[in-house]
Amino acid sequence: LPDFVARGGRVVSPSPPEAHKSSRPSTPTALPPPIIRDTYNYVNYLNPVYLGKGGFAAVWRYRKEGTRDEYYAVKVVERSRLSRTSAYEKLHREIQLHGGCSHPNIVKLCGYFQDNFNIYILLELCPDGTLLNRIYNGRGGCLSSYESFIYIRGIVEAVLYLFTKGILHRDLKPGNIFLDGNHVKLGDFGLAVSKGGHSNRSASGLSSISGTPNYLAPEVLHRRGHSEASEAWAIGCILYCMLIGRPPFETDNLQKTYNRIMRGEFSWPTIDGKNNVEQRAVMLVNRLLRIDPANRETVAGIKTSLYYQQYVENEQSDIVDQNSNALSS
Ligand code: ADP
Repeated sequence: LPDFVARGGRVVSPSPPEAHKSSRPSTPTALPPPIIRDTYNYVNYLNPVYLGKGGFAAVWRYRKEGTRDEYYAVKVVERSRLSRTSAYEKLHREIQLHGGCSHPNIVKLCGYFQDNFNIYILLELCPDGTLLNRIYNGRGGCLSSYESFIYIRGIVEAVLYLFTKGILHRDLKPGNIFLDGNHVKLGDFGLAVSKGGHSNRSASGLSSISGTPNYLAPEVLHRRGHSEASEAWAIGCILYCMLIGRPPFETDNLQKTYNRIMRGEFSWPTIDGKNNVEQRAVMLVNRLLRIDPANRETVAGIKTSLYYQQYVENEQSDIVDQNSNALSS
Protein backbone atom coordinates (compact mmCIF):
# COMPACT_ATOMS: atom_id res chain seq x y z
CA LEU A 1 0.00 0.00 0.00
CA PRO A 2 1.20 3.54 -0.59
CA ASP A 3 2.77 5.01 2.49
CA PHE A 4 0.00 7.52 3.08
CA VAL A 5 1.19 8.40 6.55
CA ALA A 6 4.77 8.96 5.36
CA ARG A 7 3.47 11.15 2.51
CA GLY A 8 2.05 13.50 5.07
CA GLY A 9 -1.27 11.79 5.72
CA ARG A 10 -2.28 12.73 9.23
CA VAL A 11 -4.91 11.75 11.68
CA VAL A 12 -7.13 14.81 11.81
CA SER A 13 -10.03 15.64 14.07
CA PRO A 14 -13.28 14.20 12.78
CA SER A 15 -16.64 15.94 12.78
CA PRO A 16 -18.37 16.40 16.16
CA PRO A 17 -19.18 13.04 17.70
CA GLU A 18 -22.69 11.79 17.95
CA ALA A 19 -24.27 8.39 18.08
CA HIS A 20 -24.65 6.96 14.59
CA LYS A 21 -28.25 7.32 13.49
CA SER A 22 -28.27 5.34 10.27
CA SER A 23 -31.43 3.27 10.05
CA ARG A 24 -31.34 -0.51 10.18
CA PRO A 25 -27.71 -1.34 9.40
CA SER A 26 -27.18 -4.73 7.75
CA THR A 27 -25.62 -7.40 9.96
CA PRO A 28 -21.83 -7.78 10.14
CA THR A 29 -20.31 -11.05 8.92
CA ALA A 30 -17.32 -11.11 11.29
CA LEU A 31 -16.58 -9.64 14.70
CA PRO A 32 -14.15 -6.70 14.64
CA PRO A 33 -10.97 -6.60 16.75
CA PRO A 34 -11.92 -4.99 20.09
CA ILE A 35 -8.82 -2.81 19.85
CA ILE A 36 -6.79 -1.82 16.79
CA ARG A 37 -3.30 -0.35 16.89
CA ASP A 38 -1.77 2.18 14.54
CA THR A 39 1.82 1.30 15.43
CA TYR A 40 3.25 4.01 13.15
CA ASN A 41 1.51 6.81 15.04
CA TYR A 42 1.30 5.01 18.44
CA VAL A 43 -2.48 5.40 18.54
CA ASN A 44 -5.07 2.79 19.50
CA TYR A 45 -8.74 2.70 18.63
CA LEU A 46 -11.36 1.02 20.83
CA ASN A 47 -15.03 0.17 21.36
CA PRO A 48 -16.16 -0.87 17.87
CA VAL A 49 -19.79 -0.22 16.96
CA TYR A 50 -21.11 -1.57 13.68
CA LEU A 51 -21.99 1.01 11.02
CA GLY A 52 -22.48 -0.91 7.78
CA LYS A 53 -21.14 -3.24 5.17
CA GLY A 54 -19.96 -2.53 1.63
CA GLY A 55 -18.76 -4.63 -1.28
CA PHE A 56 -15.65 -5.99 0.38
CA ALA A 57 -15.42 -4.42 3.83
CA ALA A 58 -17.35 -3.79 7.02
CA VAL A 59 -17.28 -0.34 8.55
CA TRP A 60 -17.14 0.14 12.34
CA ARG A 61 -17.13 3.21 14.52
CA TYR A 62 -14.06 3.28 16.78
CA ARG A 63 -13.08 5.74 19.51
CA LYS A 64 -9.53 7.00 19.61
CA GLU A 65 -7.88 5.89 22.86
CA GLY A 66 -7.17 8.72 25.30
CA THR A 67 -10.07 10.81 23.99
CA ARG A 68 -13.58 10.94 25.35
CA ASP A 69 -15.41 11.40 22.08
CA GLU A 70 -13.11 11.40 19.05
CA TYR A 71 -14.74 8.85 16.77
CA TYR A 72 -13.84 7.50 13.34
CA ALA A 73 -15.56 5.28 10.81
CA VAL A 74 -13.00 2.53 10.22
CA LYS A 75 -13.23 0.41 7.10
CA VAL A 76 -11.91 -3.03 8.01
CA VAL A 77 -10.67 -4.97 4.98
CA GLU A 78 -9.64 -8.57 5.63
CA ARG A 79 -6.20 -9.18 4.12
CA SER A 80 -7.22 -12.72 3.16
CA ARG A 81 -9.73 -11.14 0.76
CA LEU A 82 -6.95 -9.24 -1.01
CA SER A 83 -5.02 -12.26 -2.22
CA ARG A 84 -5.80 -11.41 -5.82
CA THR A 85 -3.49 -8.69 -7.13
CA SER A 86 -6.42 -6.87 -8.73
CA ALA A 87 -8.22 -6.53 -5.38
CA TYR A 88 -5.04 -5.21 -3.80
CA GLU A 89 -4.53 -2.71 -6.61
CA LYS A 90 -8.16 -1.64 -6.37
CA LEU A 91 -7.77 -0.82 -2.68
CA HIS A 92 -4.44 0.87 -3.36
CA ARG A 93 -6.06 3.15 -5.97
CA GLU A 94 -9.04 3.88 -3.72
CA ILE A 95 -6.72 5.00 -0.91
CA GLN A 96 -4.49 7.01 -3.25
CA LEU A 97 -7.33 8.88 -4.96
CA HIS A 98 -9.48 9.37 -1.87
CA GLY A 99 -6.49 10.18 0.39
CA GLY A 100 -5.44 12.97 -1.98
CA CYS A 101 -8.79 14.79 -1.61
CA SER A 102 -9.49 17.57 0.80
CA HIS A 103 -12.90 19.21 0.45
CA PRO A 104 -15.74 19.99 2.88
CA ASN A 105 -18.15 17.88 0.79
CA ILE A 106 -15.92 14.80 0.62
CA VAL A 107 -15.55 12.30 3.48
CA LYS A 108 -12.02 12.83 4.83
CA LEU A 109 -9.69 9.85 4.62
CA CYS A 110 -7.69 10.44 7.79
CA GLY A 111 -5.10 7.66 7.47
CA TYR A 112 -4.66 3.90 7.29
CA PHE A 113 -2.65 1.12 8.84
CA GLN A 114 -2.61 -2.65 8.95
CA ASP A 115 -1.94 -5.64 11.17
CA ASN A 116 -1.52 -9.32 10.33
CA PHE A 117 -5.20 -9.79 9.62
CA ASN A 118 -6.72 -6.57 8.29
CA ILE A 119 -6.13 -3.25 6.62
CA TYR A 120 -7.85 -0.36 8.42
CA ILE A 121 -8.93 2.77 6.60
CA LEU A 122 -9.69 5.61 8.96
CA LEU A 123 -12.52 7.83 7.73
CA GLU A 124 -14.19 10.91 9.09
CA LEU A 125 -17.37 9.72 10.82
CA CYS A 126 -20.57 10.90 9.16
CA PRO A 127 -23.05 10.45 11.98
CA ASP A 128 -26.34 10.78 10.11
CA GLY A 129 -26.26 7.87 7.67
CA THR A 130 -26.61 8.23 3.92
CA LEU A 131 -28.85 10.18 1.56
CA LEU A 132 -30.46 6.84 0.69
CA ASN A 133 -31.67 6.44 4.29
CA ARG A 134 -32.80 10.07 4.25
CA ILE A 135 -34.87 9.57 1.08
CA TYR A 136 -36.47 6.32 2.21
CA ASN A 137 -37.16 7.62 5.72
CA GLY A 138 -38.30 10.99 4.36
CA ARG A 139 -41.80 12.30 4.74
CA GLY A 140 -43.87 10.57 2.07
CA GLY A 141 -40.70 9.09 0.52
CA CYS A 142 -39.50 12.29 -1.12
CA LEU A 143 -37.78 15.49 -0.15
CA SER A 144 -38.83 19.08 -0.67
CA SER A 145 -37.42 21.07 -3.57
CA TYR A 146 -35.34 23.18 -1.16
CA GLU A 147 -33.94 20.26 0.84
CA SER A 148 -33.03 18.56 -2.45
CA PHE A 149 -31.19 21.74 -3.48
CA ILE A 150 -29.18 21.73 -0.22
CA TYR A 151 -27.94 18.19 -0.98
CA ILE A 152 -27.43 18.77 -4.72
CA ARG A 153 -25.32 21.84 -3.97
CA GLY A 154 -22.91 19.76 -1.83
CA ILE A 155 -22.79 16.96 -4.41
CA VAL A 156 -22.08 19.41 -7.26
CA GLU A 157 -19.28 21.11 -5.27
CA ALA A 158 -17.69 17.72 -4.47
CA VAL A 159 -17.88 16.50 -8.07
CA LEU A 160 -16.53 19.79 -9.51
CA TYR A 161 -13.62 19.58 -7.06
CA LEU A 162 -12.91 16.04 -8.25
CA PHE A 163 -12.97 17.26 -11.88
CA THR A 164 -10.28 19.83 -11.04
CA LYS A 165 -8.14 16.92 -9.81
CA GLY A 166 -8.95 14.86 -12.91
CA ILE A 167 -10.96 12.31 -10.90
CA LEU A 168 -14.23 10.66 -11.91
CA HIS A 169 -16.09 9.07 -8.98
CA ARG A 170 -18.13 6.75 -11.25
CA ASP A 171 -20.43 5.57 -8.47
CA LEU A 172 -22.50 8.63 -7.61
CA LYS A 173 -25.67 7.43 -5.89
CA PRO A 174 -27.59 8.25 -2.70
CA GLY A 175 -25.99 5.30 -0.82
CA ASN A 176 -22.54 6.85 -1.32
CA ILE A 177 -23.55 10.29 -0.12
CA PHE A 178 -23.08 10.57 3.61
CA LEU A 179 -24.74 13.08 5.92
CA ASP A 180 -23.58 15.12 8.87
CA GLY A 181 -26.75 17.00 9.69
CA ASN A 182 -27.74 18.57 6.38
CA HIS A 183 -24.13 18.69 5.23
CA VAL A 184 -23.38 16.14 2.50
CA LYS A 185 -20.09 14.33 2.08
CA LEU A 186 -19.30 12.15 -0.88
CA GLY A 187 -17.67 8.83 0.04
CA ASP A 188 -16.83 5.34 -1.25
CA PHE A 189 -14.11 5.89 -3.86
CA GLY A 190 -14.05 2.17 -4.71
CA LEU A 191 -14.78 2.81 -8.42
CA ALA A 192 -13.05 6.19 -8.78
CA VAL A 193 -10.45 6.68 -11.51
CA SER A 194 -8.01 9.36 -12.39
CA LYS A 195 -8.66 10.51 -15.95
CA GLY A 196 -4.92 10.66 -16.65
CA GLY A 197 -4.03 7.47 -14.80
CA HIS A 198 -4.55 3.92 -15.97
CA SER A 199 -7.26 1.64 -14.67
CA ASN A 200 -7.01 -2.11 -14.58
CA ARG A 201 -10.74 -2.32 -14.91
CA SER A 202 -12.68 -2.01 -18.12
CA ALA A 203 -12.92 1.52 -19.44
CA SER A 204 -16.58 1.58 -18.56
CA GLY A 205 -16.07 0.19 -15.07
CA LEU A 206 -19.01 -2.09 -15.76
CA SER A 207 -17.08 -5.28 -15.01
CA SER A 208 -16.80 -4.27 -11.37
CA ILE A 209 -20.34 -3.04 -10.83
CA SER A 210 -22.09 -5.24 -8.36
CA GLY A 211 -24.71 -2.84 -7.02
CA THR A 212 -27.52 -0.90 -8.62
CA PRO A 213 -27.36 0.07 -12.32
CA ASN A 214 -29.99 2.75 -11.65
CA TYR A 215 -27.59 5.70 -11.88
CA LEU A 216 -25.56 4.58 -14.93
CA ALA A 217 -25.67 6.73 -18.05
CA PRO A 218 -26.68 5.24 -21.45
CA GLU A 219 -23.18 5.72 -22.89
CA VAL A 220 -21.74 3.76 -19.94
CA LEU A 221 -24.15 0.90 -20.64
CA HIS A 222 -23.04 1.07 -24.28
CA ARG A 223 -19.46 0.64 -22.95
CA ARG A 224 -18.32 3.97 -24.28
CA GLY A 225 -16.85 4.76 -20.87
CA HIS A 226 -17.44 7.23 -18.07
CA SER A 227 -16.95 10.95 -18.50
CA GLU A 228 -17.86 14.19 -16.81
CA ALA A 229 -21.18 13.97 -18.71
CA SER A 230 -21.99 10.57 -17.16
CA GLU A 231 -21.38 12.10 -13.71
CA ALA A 232 -23.92 14.82 -14.65
CA TRP A 233 -26.41 12.09 -15.63
CA ALA A 234 -25.98 10.41 -12.22
CA ILE A 235 -26.63 13.74 -10.48
CA GLY A 236 -29.82 14.09 -12.55
CA CYS A 237 -30.90 10.64 -11.33
CA ILE A 238 -30.12 11.59 -7.72
CA LEU A 239 -32.14 14.83 -7.97
CA TYR A 240 -35.10 12.95 -9.47
CA CYS A 241 -34.80 10.33 -6.72
CA MET A 242 -34.91 12.97 -3.99
CA LEU A 243 -37.93 14.72 -5.52
CA ILE A 244 -39.94 11.59 -6.38
CA GLY A 245 -38.70 9.02 -3.85
CA ARG A 246 -37.28 6.47 -6.30
CA PRO A 247 -34.73 6.53 -9.15
CA PRO A 248 -36.09 7.51 -12.59
CA PHE A 249 -35.39 4.27 -14.47
CA GLU A 250 -36.05 1.75 -11.70
CA THR A 251 -37.98 -1.38 -12.64
CA ASP A 252 -38.25 -4.85 -11.06
CA ASN A 253 -35.96 -6.30 -13.72
CA LEU A 254 -32.35 -5.51 -14.61
CA GLN A 255 -32.77 -5.81 -18.37
CA LYS A 256 -35.87 -3.61 -18.34
CA THR A 257 -33.97 -0.98 -16.36
CA TYR A 258 -31.09 -1.10 -18.90
CA ASN A 259 -33.57 -0.70 -21.75
CA ARG A 260 -35.28 2.24 -20.12
CA ILE A 261 -31.95 3.96 -19.47
CA MET A 262 -30.79 3.44 -23.04
CA ARG A 263 -34.03 4.92 -24.35
CA GLY A 264 -33.95 7.71 -21.74
CA GLU A 265 -37.45 6.62 -20.81
CA PHE A 266 -38.67 8.10 -17.54
CA SER A 267 -41.74 10.04 -16.49
CA TRP A 268 -42.92 12.48 -13.86
CA PRO A 269 -45.76 11.05 -11.78
CA THR A 270 -48.92 13.12 -11.92
CA ILE A 271 -51.85 13.57 -9.56
CA ASP A 272 -55.12 14.48 -11.36
CA GLY A 273 -53.12 15.09 -14.52
CA LYS A 274 -50.82 17.54 -12.70
CA ASN A 275 -47.17 17.11 -11.92
CA ASN A 276 -46.55 18.24 -8.34
CA VAL A 277 -42.83 18.83 -8.67
CA GLU A 278 -41.56 22.34 -9.05
CA GLN A 279 -41.16 23.09 -12.79
CA ARG A 280 -37.63 24.50 -12.50
CA ALA A 281 -36.46 21.25 -10.92
CA VAL A 282 -38.25 19.26 -13.64
CA MET A 283 -36.56 21.34 -16.36
CA LEU A 284 -33.13 20.77 -14.84
CA VAL A 285 -33.58 17.01 -14.45
CA ASN A 286 -34.90 16.78 -18.03
CA ARG A 287 -31.74 18.51 -19.28
CA LEU A 288 -29.47 16.27 -17.17
CA LEU A 289 -31.15 13.10 -18.42
CA ARG A 290 -30.61 13.68 -22.14
CA ILE A 291 -29.35 10.56 -23.88
CA ASP A 292 -26.76 12.39 -25.96
CA PRO A 293 -23.90 13.38 -23.61
CA ALA A 294 -23.00 16.30 -25.89
CA ASN A 295 -26.50 17.69 -25.46
CA ARG A 296 -26.71 17.15 -21.72
CA GLU A 297 -26.48 19.84 -19.03
CA THR A 298 -23.00 19.89 -17.48
CA VAL A 299 -22.22 19.59 -13.77
CA ALA A 300 -21.01 23.22 -13.73
CA GLY A 301 -24.17 24.21 -15.65
CA ILE A 302 -26.35 22.97 -12.76
CA LYS A 303 -25.18 26.01 -10.80
CA THR A 304 -26.55 28.42 -13.40
CA SER A 305 -29.94 26.68 -13.69
CA LEU A 306 -33.07 28.57 -12.60
CA TYR A 307 -33.76 25.85 -10.03
CA TYR A 308 -30.39 26.36 -8.35
CA GLN A 309 -30.22 30.12 -8.74
CA GLN A 310 -33.59 30.79 -7.08
CA TYR A 311 -32.35 29.30 -3.80
CA VAL A 312 -28.95 31.00 -4.01
CA GLU A 313 -30.76 34.33 -4.53
CA ASN A 314 -33.17 33.60 -1.64
CA GLU A 315 -30.24 32.86 0.65
CA GLN A 316 -28.47 36.04 -0.43
CA SER A 317 -31.55 38.18 0.21
CA ASP A 318 -31.99 36.47 3.62
CA ILE A 319 -28.42 37.50 4.47
CA VAL A 320 -29.12 41.09 3.33
CA ASP A 321 -32.32 41.10 5.48
CA GLN A 322 -30.44 39.76 8.50
CA ASN A 323 -27.70 42.37 8.06
CA SER A 324 -30.17 45.25 7.74
CA ASN A 325 -32.13 43.96 10.76
CA ALA A 326 -28.88 43.81 12.73
CA LEU A 327 -28.03 47.36 11.65
CA SER A 328 -31.45 48.79 12.53
CA SER A 329 -31.64 47.08 15.96
P1 ADP B 1 -17.57 -0.34 0.33
O1 ADP B 1 -16.54 0.57 -0.23
O2 ADP B 1 -16.97 -1.66 0.78
O3 ADP B 1 -18.76 -0.50 -0.57
P2 ADP B 1 -18.87 1.72 1.84
O4 ADP B 1 -17.91 2.84 1.78
O5 ADP B 1 -20.06 1.77 0.93
O6 ADP B 1 -18.11 0.33 1.68
O7 ADP B 1 -19.43 1.61 3.33
C1 ADP B 1 -20.37 0.62 3.73
C2 ADP B 1 -21.31 1.19 4.78
O8 ADP B 1 -20.58 1.63 5.94
C3 ADP B 1 -22.07 2.43 4.35
O9 ADP B 1 -23.25 2.10 3.67
C4 ADP B 1 -22.37 3.13 5.68
O10 ADP B 1 -23.47 2.53 6.33
C5 ADP B 1 -21.12 2.83 6.48
N1 ADP B 1 -20.12 3.92 6.35
C6 ADP B 1 -19.12 3.98 5.43
N2 ADP B 1 -18.38 5.10 5.58
C7 ADP B 1 -18.92 5.78 6.62
C8 ADP B 1 -18.62 7.03 7.27
N3 ADP B 1 -17.59 7.79 6.88
N4 ADP B 1 -19.39 7.42 8.33
C9 ADP B 1 -20.43 6.65 8.72
N5 ADP B 1 -20.78 5.47 8.15
C10 ADP B 1 -20.04 5.02 7.12
